[in-house]
Amino acid sequence: MSYSTRDQQALAEQMQDRLGQLVPSPEIQLKAELVSKINRLKLERNAVILGHNYMEPALYHFVADFTGDSLELCRQAANTDRDIIVFCGVRFMAETAKIINPSKLVLLPSLEAGCSLAASITAADVRALRQQYPGVPVVTYVNTYAEVKAESDICCTSSNAAAVIASLQSDRVIFLPDEYMAKNLARQTGKSVVFPEDHSNKADSIRSLQDTIIGWHGRCEVHEKFTVEDIQNVRKQFPDVVVLAHPECSPEVIEAVDFSGSTAAMIDYVKTHKSPHFLLLTECSMGDNIIAENPEKDILRLCSVRCPHMNQITLEQTLQSLQRLQYEVDLPEDIRLRARGAIDKMLAIQPLR
Ligand code: SF4
Repeated sequence: MSYSTRDQQALAEQMQDRLGQLVPSPEIQLKAELVSKINRLKLERNAVILGHNYMEPALYHFVADFTGDSLELCRQAANTDRDIIVFCGVRFMAETAKIINPSKLVLLPSLEAGCSLAASITAADVRALRQQYPGVPVVTYVNTYAEVKAESDICCTSSNAAAVIASLQSDRVIFLPDEYMAKNLARQTGKSVVFPEDHSNKADSIRSLQDTIIGWHGRCEVHEKFTVEDIQNVRKQFPDVVVLAHPECSPEVIEAVDFSGSTAAMIDYVKTHKSPHFLLLTECSMGDNIIAENPEKDILRLCSVRCPHMNQITLEQTLQSLQRLQYEVDLPEDIRLRARGAIDKMLAIQPLR
């Protein structure tokens, strides 16, 4: 497919229509050039581009073939027949694509796209927890690296964590690594929550634990920033605002909001509910992406809150990724297979569509 100057101008006009209220016009022209180069190369390389909900608007709306949360992108990675998967998200997500579809070349456009939550726990930590709490099943949030998934019984996402825990039919569960999500799940499921340091020398009390989630002190450096005071300040100014938060926010924040759910659930909520104003307590690009598609929605944001890892994935990096076939994500086969087992168990609860 060849792109003419006219095609590029048409693309710039489409981008102006959709992103005009978010991105200055001269920037849209520059972005349109990059977008057309990426889309040409994507076809030549027979690649699919997966874009997480936190990607910047031009990439999200004009480059990604599929967009969504971790679970949705996991489904798309499993189903693609293209040769190359370019994962516009962070490393643990690209690893999940490789775990699920190992015959594909999986590329992550930046080596800097990590995650504070995924970095909070290692495979050795999980082995030590299994020794400390023998026989207790380990549930691992997908925001972890492959080595950690490989040590787990089952994975979960923010949209299916409660269902995954219920499926285990165990009164004690180790839930890793998000501290706040463990506390929020405990509240939601009527369990109590404890942490490993509470029991380092108390074997008897461990045996007596009932209806308990054993947590870990990992946190998302984006969602931990939001406070109850932020919500109160916005409510004072906009009394009719509907506030939504991701379950990686603190329990106090979750208690103070109107709705809590995964990024996909928040997007659905905003699209299907009416309110003069919405406030999204999550990564700021997601608000931009909703506005671009639903200009009639008034989304208030605490705009400085961007994930420094997601932010590494730019149009320039994505173009270079396709040009140079970088950076390949690969995994040792034994780790991949064990991690795959934990993901498959999750997908058996919420199957691939
Ligand atoms: S938003 Fe939080 S959980 Fe998501 S990649 Fe960034 S640091 Fe990790």
